[in-house]
Amino acid sequence: MPNVAKLTFWGVRGSTPTVERDTWRYGGNTSCLELRAPGGGRFILDCGTGLRMLGKRMRAEQEHPPASGKTSGVEAHVLVTHYHWDHIQGMPFFHPFFDARNRFDFYSFKSQQLGRDSLRQVLEAQLASPYFPVDLAKMTAGRRFHEIAGGDAWDVPGARVTAAWLNHPQGCLGYRLDTAAGSVVYATDNEPGVAEFDGNLLKLADGADALVYDAQFSPEQLATTRRGWGHSTWLEGVKIARQARVKNLFLFHHDPESSSQVVDGFLYAARQEFPATWAAIEGMCITLCDQRVKVALPEARLGHRREIRLAAMVSGQSENGMPFEEQATVRDVSLLGAYLSLSRRPPLQSEVRVVIETGGNSNPSNRLSLRGTVVRCEPGSKANEYGVGVVFLEELDPDTPLD
Ligand SMILES: [Zn+2]
Ligand SMILES: [Zn+2]
Repeated sequence: MPNVAKLTFWGVRGSTPTVERDTWRYGGNTSCLELRAPGGGRFILDCGTGLRMLGKRMRAEQEHPPASGKTSGVEAHVLVTHYHWDHIQGMPFFHPFFDARNRFDFYSFKSQQLGRDSLRQVLEAQLASPYFPVDLAKMTAGRRFHEIAGGDAWDVPGARVTAAWLNHPQGCLGYRLDTAAGSVVYATDNEPGVAEFDGNLLKLADGADALVYDAQFSPEQLATTRRGWGHSTWLEGVKIARQARVKNLFLFHHDPESSSQVVDGFLYAARQEFPATWAAIEGMCITLCDQRVKVALPEARLGHRREIRLAAMVSGQSENGMPFEEQATVRDVSLLGAYLSLSRRPPLQSEVRVVIETGGNSNPSNRLSLRGTVVRCEPGSKANEYGVGVVFLEELDPDTPLD
């Protein structure tokens, strides 16, 4: 059987979680990755708010194991890069910490400010009164803390882990995990330009199959207003990827002020220079198999999907860079909402039902029947006409009578 490792992004945002709609596509949870190494070794890289989602998945697996699986506890190695909020804030909300069947090994460095047992202190302080309602005694999972430093390397089942110091206020560690299926380097919260740290990163990333790198700012921002903030850019990521002969570059730690379109822009700019670049999206999953990397994107999380048949003309660029245009069939659409002209004025936040005929005949499969909520209502251009914005909540059986 070939060796397979899976890397999943549970949180990709830097600094603070975002909920703005224009950040949804990439996701709003802060730093958290999971690596399943060949042979079953499990790693958690950082504990930002994305950790809560991973906890939900782990609990579901424990409650409903696959037919072949057993319901024993979860064991994982938790590698924390540093103690800024966006890398630790998910800990109190991670259910597997509150289950005595589970065991965790934690790794991080001795902070100058906190001294010995820094990570234990950070974890316990987050659960201390008056910051959190649940007592530390409820955190029943087995916990072992390991103090490590840049330059250390150690073996855990499934991977060899190497740590390196990066350039970030109060310190930060980058991690490399070498597995039988391939190598992953997680290097976030790093500002380029200091020879010692730049050298550490190049060595850490050398020949990696996947490099996850801090691309929070634009090159212009880093050169001006964001210098000294401890972060980097897609352009620096490209330079490192080239110099270290990395196979795939993943832009990560998106700025909370960056809309999805801004991140798209960074990605497209980076691809011009280094084609094997990807922008980390919440839910993205990378499979490493015999040093080859396959990327899968999450199901779009934004809307209800509906099977439909519509003709469309599609143009774009094919893999070899050639532009194309072709006639295609739309097989399904995702439905977020609509803007309607009505002669009545439904109140904001009231429910409406919208039935749309999508084909030329009255075949029910050509009919979309949707329940929605009114989010906008304004006078239209004519008298007795209103522009009404609706967000769709669900699709209804077209034969259900309106109540
Ligand atoms: Zn951060
Ligand atoms: Zn930080």
